Amino acid sequence: MKEKILHVDGDAFFAACEMARFPMLWNKPLVVGYSIASAMSYEAKKLGVHRAMPIFEVKKTFPHMAIIGTHFELYHMYGDKLSSVLARYTDRIERYSVDECFAILTLSEMNKYGTWENFLLTIKNDVQSTLGITFSFGLADTKVLAKVASKYEKPNGLTYISESNREKVLKKVPIENIWGVGRATAKNLQRIGVKNAYQFVKLSESYVDTYFHKPLAELWHELCGRRIMNLSDSLEIDLAKSFQSMRTFKPATDNKIFIASELSNNVEIVCARMRESDLVTKNISIILKQGEYNVSQIEVVMPNYTNSPSDILNYLESSFDKLFVGGTKYRQTGFVASNLKPRAHIQNDLFNVQNNILENSRGYMSIVDVIHNKFGNSSIGLLSSLNAVNQMNDKKLVDEGKDPYIWNLPLPYLGEIY
Ligand SMILES: [Mg+2]
Repeated sequence: MKEKILHVDGDAFFAACEMARFPMLWNKPLVVGYSIASAMSYEAKKLGVHRAMPIFEVKKTFPHMAIIGTHFELYHMYGDKLSSVLARYTDRIERYSVDECFAILTLSEMNKYGTWENFLLTIKNDVQSTLGITFSFGLADTKVLAKVASKYEKPNGLTYISESNREKVLKKVPIENIWGVGRATAKNLQRIGVKNAYQFVKLSESYVDTYFHKPLAELWHELCGRRIMNLSDSLEIDLAKSFQSMRTFKPATDNKIFIASELSNNVEIVCARMRESDLVTKNISIILKQGEYNVSQIEVVMPNYTNSPSDILNYLESSFDKLFVGGTKYRQTGFVASNLKPRAHIQNDLFNVQNNILENSRGYMSIVDVIHNKFGNSSIGLLSSLNAVNQMNDKKLVDEGKDPYIWNLPLPYLGEIY
């Protein structure tokens, strides 16, 4: 076959994302949820915590259990990152859920790695080193078999189902564990002596066609290795198509330097999100808002793709001058990056300009990202965003009932980087 279907599935995904943020939780029993356990680490599962267990019960039974609330935005961020790593190897990806993807891998791409197993291992290592959490990988001829494969050795599994090991694998898969086989169907199949996936595929085609409804017959074909199901219609990478940052400030102001600083801060926020997901853009727009219905916006197409705030701000300067009307009081700025593309898909040009732009910013921006992760997003930034960041910090302190004058130590001036 010229192509295979890959299925990737996060291992105890919510718990893993939380552990990646708080490494002291690593390999510890951990429950994620507010009132009930939404998810848990393998260690907590071993102790007997189950899904939907009330948190008060968890606390009572396991007084030393680490319990943490859910952070869906974080999990989606990791999901975005997973697709962006997969996009380095294929552009046919279906995001099935927050921690699951199907993808089509082609024979010609595989040839670069020698074997399907090697190709699979390369992608798995790439995902792991980029995200810092483990996923289980399954590769097979059909979607249903790929699902079986990723589940086969979970957690941290890697299974390739080929013609030669298919029967051996299917013998170990209980019928009720097959994707799409509900409890009632499983019971009916068990009644006719079908206890595992192997016994299921051994039924004859005429039997299947006569006695089973269409979805179950299709499942049978898929388990036999005949592809019925394709990736969801679009066959396009379901990455976020645009990112934006808007912020309202009070009071409204006509101070151009302050407004420019707000915009610069918007740009930094959006660029950080793009880098998180390894995305770049050419299409940017800025928004200045006076009131709900009084909005001005300007769109710019840059000559090259980037996710560096200083590159983008260079292009925005003249547009901002055009858009900004002196003496007008604005109360909100916004920045949108649209038509986002995975960095790995960007073609270089004849004079290497595009590559240089991406590589130049990548070096120092990755250091900025490390500092952000360690010390928070306002720990380092462009001087042009300073006014906005200071005001934001002041507001946070006032909200917490603290006096900004005492608490907000000025950022030390460490010099400028060109
Ligand atoms: Mg999962």
